[in-house]
Amino acid sequence: MMPTELNFQCSLCDFKSPYDYFGSKPPFANAVVLLEKAYVLKDPFVPEGRHITVGSHCSVCKRAVCAGQDCSLFYTKRFCLPCVKKHFNEFPQEIQQELEKKGS
Ligand SMILES: [Zn+2]
Ligand SMILES: [Zn+2]
Repeated sequence: MMPTELNFQCSLCDFKSPYDYFGSKPPFANAVVLLEKAYVLKDPFVPEGRHITVGSHCSVCKRAVCAGQDCSLFYTKRFCLPCVKKHFNEFPQEIQQELEKKGS
């Protein structure tokens, strides 16, 4: 039987990527505990313990978002950009300035 390939698809952009694991403790990355449950890909170019976070779920609306700066923000939790905009005033000033600099 062929193993089913797992694929992550961002709900905000066209980003698509296979992933090896979903959760916060990738078994192939030694002693790594992520701050969130995320879609993780084994880094094929590094022999051991390296991983790439391809995406996660927004902690507010639960949609799948990639880790790209245009789609999500990680501030103690993952937020998709539409939710960041909705709750803009609840973020600390440094994050607000950071977002304004990007001029979206
Ligand atoms: Zn995206
Ligand atoms: Zn959201």
